[in-house]
Amino acid sequence: MTTLKRVDVHVEGVVQGVGFRPFVHALARRLGLAGRVHNDVDGVHIEVEGALAGVEEFLTALERDAPALSEIERVTVVSARPTGHNGFTIAAGLPSGPLRPLVRADGATCDDCLRELADPADRRHGYPFINCANCGPRFTIVRGVPYDRPLTTMAGFGMCQACAAEYHDPGNRRHRAQPTCCPACGPRLRLRDARGTELCGDPVAGAVTLLRAGRVVAVKGLGGFHLAVPAADERAAALLRGRKHREEQPFAVMAADLAQARRLCEIDEHAAELLTGRARPIVLLPRLPGAPVAASVAPATRSLGLMLPYTALHHLLLAELAEPMVLTGGNVSGEPIAYEDDDALTRLSGIADAFLIHDRPIHVRADDSVVRPMAGEVTVLRRARGYAPEPLAMRWPAPRPVLACGAELKSTFCLAEGRRAFVSQHIGTLENHETLRSFVESIDHYCGLFGIRPEVVAHDLHPGYLSTRHAMEIRGVRLLGVQHHHAHIASCLADNGDPGPVLGVALDGLGHGPDGTLWGGEFLRADLTSYERLGHLAQVPMPGGSAAVRQPWRMAAAYLGDDHPGLDVTRLDVARRNPWADALRLAPGSPLTSSAARLFDAVAALLGVRDKITYAGQAVVELEQHADPAERGTYEAGITHGDLLVVQAADLVRAAAADLAAGTGTRVIAGRFHNGLADAVARACDILRAATGLTAVALSGGMFQNALLLEATVARLRAAGFRVLKHVRVPPGDGGVSLGQAAVAAARDRA
Ligand SMILES: [Zn+2]
Ligand SMILES: [Zn+2]
Repeated sequence: MTTLKRVDVHVEGVVQGVGFRPFVHALARRLGLAGRVHNDVDGVHIEVEGALAGVEEFLTALERDAPALSEIERVTVVSARPTGHNGFTIAAGLPSGPLRPLVRADGATCDDCLRELADPADRRHGYPFINCANCGPRFTIVRGVPYDRPLTTMAGFGMCQACAAEYHDPGNRRHRAQPTCCPACGPRLRLRDARGTELCGDPVAGAVTLLRAGRVVAVKGLGGFHLAVPAADERAAALLRGRKHREEQPFAVMAADLAQARRLCEIDEHAAELLTGRARPIVLLPRLPGAPVAASVAPATRSLGLMLPYTALHHLLLAELAEPMVLTGGNVSGEPIAYEDDDALTRLSGIADAFLIHDRPIHVRADDSVVRPMAGEVTVLRRARGYAPEPLAMRWPAPRPVLACGAELKSTFCLAEGRRAFVSQHIGTLENHETLRSFVESIDHYCGLFGIRPEVVAHDLHPGYLSTRHAMEIRGVRLLGVQHHHAHIASCLADNGDPGPVLGVALDGLGHGPDGTLWGGEFLRADLTSYERLGHLAQVPMPGGSAAVRQPWRMAAAYLGDDHPGLDVTRLDVARRNPWADALRLAPGSPLTSSAARLFDAVAALLGVRDKITYAGQAVVELEQHADPAERGTYEAGITHGDLLVVQAADLVRAAAADLAAGTGTRVIAGRFHNGLADAVARACDILRAATGLTAVALSGGMFQNALLLEATVARLRAAGFRVLKHVRVPPGDGGVSLGQAAVAAARDRA
């Protein structure tokens, strides 16, 4: 007789509403084990009994073969006394206690569903809304908790008998898959013209005919509407750009599969993994010379934002079109993307010639996420569809629930409870009513979904940010202001599960400094509770204040001052007369800044790359793209060290001007400038290491979305013996600030 073994297993993490119980049920049956599985307050509880080898195999397979959408955080196994009972059952969830199933992010159509989609014998053959427990819409269709069909936007679709049978069968891949449906009972696709009139015929074939004719088609996706044109069609791409009022910001491109993607970009194994993963983000990749992409799709850049299909509708469209298509956000520049049908038909009526639309409502707006392979790893630049609302695990718990309101540009908020931090999807720049409404409503939605009632509210120190003002209006909570660049470094610490203290290098646009100047090129000593400013880039005036952000030529004048060699800094803005005189006349009364972004602006204008901008961060992005990545030359910036360390960044601009006057190519100069700044950062850290004994450096701020700067800085710091922390899961830019604020608030609340 074999010895019976019985264990109680508790699984924590994202394990509810993801097909975990049917998976456990099937696994136990396959191994001939007895017992039961049920959801409980904080995960899934399993009692399993049988031969020792079977139980051991069960525990191994539990983690190894877990469903694609699940994410196991912790498994606890306790031995129990065998009962000798037979059979394995799925028991009902415990009725008592607050149930907090985690709502998962939307997942790309799985291989099983794709096989059925392509199988003429399957009842879901060619059906654009096919999904199962392992894939499909989640977060974007959830109205409330518990996560169950009546509280999703699928509530209006009664299941047919065949779907209901699958849904209730614990052995079926669609067991309790809330959005499951089929052509007989689920959503329907329609094609409408710009006036809203339905066009007859097959909607996908009709849409593709229009795309081939160079028309702009709005396509309803998971988290909002997209606008599509064929990626190689210059006339259509230029038309879309004009109608969207998006002058230069690159469009993303969707390819049918990896083979098609490989004709557009350099794709190594790592990039292939990112492109085909469940989250299906836009991946920023080096574009191949001669790639069949229209010039207007991504001007002034050598990269391309590429993604693969993540809904069955995308697969059907691209199979029919047989070439890659632009798929960019369905909005007019500056507004959030449209996600409600009526709103989309109104707001996009002047942009789209037709609408490929369906009757499954989107409840939560979510943009496409953007990631970039950098320095041998990947950094998330925009965290939204496919990632949010999944919690990030924090090494140290928040004693009381925290709401962190974030900053202003590319804003997100963060709710933290216990060891979990829920960073919201990218909401957008908080500068108009529509975005603010989305921000406030999303906070309420997250609080409801995850049962969190914030007792501590963290915010930026900038009194004018709408996020700060929102925080100030919340009553009965502990309010905590967190300095912008401290939040950046804390975000990097939280991203890496490191408590600090570290040398924090925060290079970004502009942040409110406690001394009344605008910070943005900062060297801090920081841990999660506090920071001290150890140094910064030398301050320069921003001639004309915020006008200098939109017109980088002003920064070139400010940096070079009176000893300029008469260089032209307004080669694009040709109508501008006397730029130097204008800038220098304004400079004395202008705000002072140590911003690294303004330093990039100065060099971009000097080199004729960009002297006025049409989207935030444009000069920085284009200067990186302009630079020769193979250039090894460098410039040297002086460093002074009194009470504070000061990097004389103007030395870099002067060296660039001298090279330019000597006839050196602008791509070489741009490369030397990147290397010069990285050198200066590494030398500054070396001096600060001697003064403080700190040997780890955390890199944060939007400038570290620049791969050239990040890689050059990381290489120099590592060569100098530093341990380097950089961003992985949240953006280095302001989209990551809310996580940092939450980490600081939690740490101060623990103290
Ligand atoms: Zn599936
Ligand atoms: Zn059905």
